[in-house]
Amino acid sequence: MTRPLKVLHLEDRPRDAELIHERLASDGLQCEFRLANGKAGFEAALSEETFDLIISDYNLPGYDGISALKRSQAMQPDVPVILVSGTVSEEEAVKCLQFGATDYLLKGRLDRLAPAVRRAIDEAQTRLTRKRAEIALAQSERRKAAILDSVLDCIITMDAGGIVIEFNTAAERTFGYTKAEAIGRPLGELIIPPAFRHVHADGLARYLSTGRAPFLGTVTEITAMRADGSELPVELTITAIHSEHAPIFTGVLRDITARKRADETRARLAAIVDSSDDAIFSVGLDDVILTWNAGAERLYGYAASEVIGRQKNLLVPAAKAGGLQPMMDKASRGEAGAPFETQRIRKDGSLIDISLTLSPMTDSTGRVISVSAIARDITERNKAVAALRAAEERMRFALQSAKVGIWDMDFTTGVLQWSEVLEAQYGLQPGTFAGTFDAFIELIHPDDRGAVLEAVATARQSGTDFTFQHRVIWPDGNVRWLNGAGHLVLDEHGERIRGIGISQDATERRNQEQQLQQAQKMEAIGQLAGGVAHDFNNLLTVILGYCEMMIEDLARTNECLPGLLQIQQAGFSAAGLTRQLLAFSRKEIISPTLLDLNVVMDGMRPMLSRLIREDVEVVISLRPEPAQVTADRGQIEQLIVNLAVNARDAMPKGGILSIEVSSVVLGRDYANAHLGVAAGPYISLAISDTGEGMTPEVKARLFEPFFTTKEVGSGTGLGLAMVHGVVSQNGGSIDVASELGKGTSFRIYLPRAEGVEAAVEPPPPTARARAGGESIIVVEDADGLRTLITTLLERLGYTVMSAANAGQAIKLFEAHPDVDLLLTDVVMPGGNGPELTATLLAGRPELKVIYMSGYTDEAIVQHGVLNPGIAFLHKPFTAEALGGMVRAVLDR
Ligand code: ADP
Ligand code: MG
Repeated sequence: MTRPLKVLHLEDRPRDAELIHERLASDGLQCEFRLANGKAGFEAALSEETFDLIISDYNLPGYDGISALKRSQAMQPDVPVILVSGTVSEEEAVKCLQFGATDYLLKGRLDRLAPAVRRAIDEAQTRLTRKRAEIALAQSERRKAAILDSVLDCIITMDAGGIVIEFNTAAERTFGYTKAEAIGRPLGELIIPPAFRHVHADGLARYLSTGRAPFLGTVTEITAMRADGSELPVELTITAIHSEHAPIFTGVLRDITARKRADETRARLAAIVDSSDDAIFSVGLDDVILTWNAGAERLYGYAASEVIGRQKNLLVPAAKAGGLQPMMDKASRGEAGAPFETQRIRKDGSLIDISLTLSPMTDSTGRVISVSAIARDITERNKAVAALRAAEERMRFALQSAKVGIWDMDFTTGVLQWSEVLEAQYGLQPGTFAGTFDAFIELIHPDDRGAVLEAVATARQSGTDFTFQHRVIWPDGNVRWLNGAGHLVLDEHGERIRGIGISQDATERRNQEQQLQQAQKMEAIGQLAGGVAHDFNNLLTVILGYCEMMIEDLARTNECLPGLLQIQQAGFSAAGLTRQLLAFSRKEIISPTLLDLNVVMDGMRPMLSRLIREDVEVVISLRPEPAQVTADRGQIEQLIVNLAVNARDAMPKGGILSIEVSSVVLGRDYANAHLGVAAGPYISLAISDTGEGMTPEVKARLFEPFFTTKEVGSGTGLGLAMVHGVVSQNGGSIDVASELGKGTSFRIYLPRAEGVEAAVEPPPPTARARAGGESIIVVEDADGLRTLITTLLERLGYTVMSAANAGQAIKLFEAHPDVDLLLTDVVMPGGNGPELTATLLAGRPELKVIYMSGYTDEAIVQHGVLNPGIAFLHKPFTAEALGGMVRAVLDR
């Protein structure tokens, strides 16, 4: 010891103290004494200083060694105490040692003091060192425990028998046992599921016998178990610590549930990516392809091994590279992109349409490390979209060109949508329809509203589609017919949710249907009228023929003559009527020529002024340019007369009759709206009056033969029928506009003809030529007429043989093959005129032929027009006409 010992010395006798000090010094112990001579000094010293040693006298006045001993042990327990006494009993000495004194010796044997001090100091030193070591050990144990408890891994120590010695906090947390529960129990029972226990036990047993274990020192994944029996995957590392007796094992266990789950998730994700139909791949920021799924192989045709590591530009057509860059830049900045449509090149060089989505891929710090791409083949979709568009386009075109209007009713909102075409069908400007069901009903003709509402109601009940036809009144008063069809969409409760439908303007079609009906009616009446006129003409020819003969034969003074003249006059009137009827039924035989209506009109002025009363002003407006048509002049004149007379009759109190000739071009619309009329250039003849006009009922029946509103005797009802027949025979058309009390306007269109008007040849003079002994065969089925013709011709000096039909005529011809002329009816039962003629001409080519008829027949006329070069006699004919025609033909 280098420093002097600090000694607290309790001694009341200075002499004794001195002796002890000297003795210790002489025995080589360097000491520093603090002397106390009683209780107070002693205790003060103990509280003020720390000492290496206490030497205390045993007997002190008012104090004793035992008390001092106790005091020092209380205040400085580690300091050794040596008691010194002048006299002492054995008993006292034992007591002192019992109380903890280090030594006890007598003042008379101070030679023992120094060794006792030395020993005491040594012992105290040893005690102190041991104590410090114990503290250090305890501290290190605590630190170790703290470390064990602070780590996240489970650390479990066990002995060679597998009994748990240590169990850290992480282990408590992970396995659900407290330290107290775990320590002392076999680890296998604690944390190994029963099914695995023998495996691990075997491993341990093998180690104990061989010093080697399969899992020792390596990281092994095992299934462990918690206190509640649930299992968890752990990673286990076991280290063996060899102590001199038996090895101790330390197991480090790590719960890898989360990592396992993440692994599984990753594996699942990878499986999803691989099974995806989309191409999913990733591209590094250096544009190198990093990953490539099966979908990408299919889409692009490259195997993963062919593209991974190559530049992405491999896939990008040059034209699309520019568009891609901004998207890549965006993804590289960490922004997720929206799908965009582009094109890519497949391995085989073909182009595909794709939808591409680029997204940034980040590492754990959020830094973008690559870009993921999801591509989908949209070639088919684009084709489908294009096809759909084309279909829509076609549909739109079809609807628009067919002028089909579309409506769409949303019953949940009550909104009714109309297409522009539909609005137009109601006479509305685009976008002006009010958009409700009520507004729609409002536009319907009041008479038709009930029917429409009923159709809709029925459809609602039955759930079937519906059609309806109704009129609408346009804002300008125009009435149109519409055809509608609708379809209701019902929900699962049968409630209407939506209705859709179409509408078409049926006005034109209705008009045409009506026109067609009218035309068919006219045709039927025409057939009838034509047949009547045919028979009638035969009768009239007979009546007029005999009248003529009798008038000729009777003396001028005969009193029967005036009556006969009346009969003849009536016969002429009747002949006029049949002519009208024939004209109406288009059976009149006509000779059309090129006519200028200006010229015709001009020529009729004198006649019109005779026809029209003075209180009617006639205004004729003609055009300087020619107004040429091809028609029968007589028919046209008759037509004008009929219209003028009607106009006159409509103006009993006077007025204006205006006649106007002009040139027009009728368009396709007009032609479509009027049956049998072609578009093109026409001459218009308008005849208008300021008369009383007519009601729609009269207007509807105007052209029917025998339809008249005039008193019996003053109207025949044939005037307009004739007009109608003539106009339609000439390929023309008539428009009638009439307003009650204001007047009527007839507008006649006749096709404009080109060419130069032929000079009208004057008819040859029909002087009554007498016969030169020629013979004639007359063929006529009507008995009266046959007799009349025979009589008339015989009176003219001809030799006449008559036949009632073709068979008789052929027999006559065979008996008289040198006959000069055949005069034959055209229409006869049992072989018609032309057929008979052909037979006879075969035997005698120079035989002359005259046809007679009151009626057209396709055998001698085409469309009512006489074939050129044929001699033809109109029935009814006069004796004069007959004689003239026979003579002229025989003289040819
Ligand atoms: P009719 O003159 O013999 O009666 P129409 O065939 O010429 O026979 O005419 C038939 C009917 O048409 C007439 O009775 C008349 O009611 C009507 N009508 C013809 N023209 C006119 C007109 N200009 N104004 C008013 N009504 C007319
Ligand atoms: Mg008339």
